[in-house]
Amino acid sequence: MFNALYLEQTSDKRTTARLQALDDAALPTFDARGVAVDIAFSTLNYKDCLAITGKSPVVRKWPMVPGIDFAGTVSASDDPRWQPGDAVILNGWGVGESHWGGLAQKARVSGDWLVRRPEALSAFEAMAIGTAGYTAMLCVLALERRGVQPGQGEILVTGASGGVGSFAVSLLARRGFQVVASTGKAGEAGYLQALGATEVIDRATLAAPGKPLQKERWAGVVDSVGSHTLANACAGTRYGGTVAACGLAQGMELPLTVAPFILRGVALVGVDSVMAPLALRTEAWSRLAAEVDRGAIAAIASRIGLAEALEAAPRLLAGAVRGRLVVDVQR
Ligand code: NDP
Repeated sequence: MFNALYLEQTSDKRTTARLQALDDAALPTFDARGVAVDIAFSTLNYKDCLAITGKSPVVRKWPMVPGIDFAGTVSASDDPRWQPGDAVILNGWGVGESHWGGLAQKARVSGDWLVRRPEALSAFEAMAIGTAGYTAMLCVLALERRGVQPGQGEILVTGASGGVGSFAVSLLARRGFQVVASTGKAGEAGYLQALGATEVIDRATLAAPGKPLQKERWAGVVDSVGSHTLANACAGTRYGGTVAACGLAQGMELPLTVAPFILRGVALVGVDSVMAPLALRTEAWSRLAAEVDRGAIAAIASRIGLAEALEAAPRLLAGAVRGRLVVDVQR
């Protein structure tokens, strides 16, 4: 038996969530690719909170064990690429949405979905980084691939005090970029400066409808917010600059014009962590292992237990959580 968060849907389509003891035999099977993992740590991501609260229909099958990421150790494997004792990380692939996920002490997943945990990262560190830090690194890679380099100008990071934002600020600052952090939490200015932001701006300056073209300021943008914020970020991006869009904390809509693209050659690049190919994941995790600031991990991550994740979910959706919540599934 093992403990897991367990989501069910009522007949009137409400989500119920509780801590539940489950039988190992209930774990899903994956034919010749199945890998059983003893989970050490998972995290509480924005998407997990949508699943747990039922606020958005991210769960595709019921009942569901939420948790879009985990770090753990292989306990048994039908996949010849994985052996018992291997240290692994999983991010995405519909785990916690269509397949039972990481907010549990055990999982069984396809061997195709696992990444070998770099030796330089402990399981705790890997999940302190989690899907948020991995997505932040995918955004950094997206900017770099379009030629954005330190010295070209300021990089805007929106949703800066959140999980993706905090890691984006830290990773970019460590690579020598000049980072401007946009936040709704004035009280977190010191935290963001400690992560490496050279300037902290009020997100209200970006959150309302703005002009289609604005003063050219940003050489690059990492946006986890969407909506008017992303539209204003594009409108304020310098000639040839790149905007990496990965989130929708403000909203899914994107009310912008083509002006930044056709008059300034701005590129809007979508970043997806869920179905990203293995080679890109491996590159992102290896860069994270080499570049992540251990001090930043300590500042960004706090530790909670499985049951505590239930009450933390609505707080995170309300934007009231700073940084990342790492879930110790044994607690
Ligand atoms: P968090 O909740 O940790 O951070 C989101 C941050 O956005 C908040 O801390 C807040 O930062 C800001 N924010 C919240 N509400 C609003 C609002 N109404 N208007 C403007 N800003 C707001 O979430 P994550 O960092 O984990 O994820 C951020 C986004 O990225 C989410 O939408 C998530 O779904 C998405 N995501 C996408 C991935 C992908 O593969 N594309 C992977 C991971 C996440 P502040 O107070 O500093 O402004």
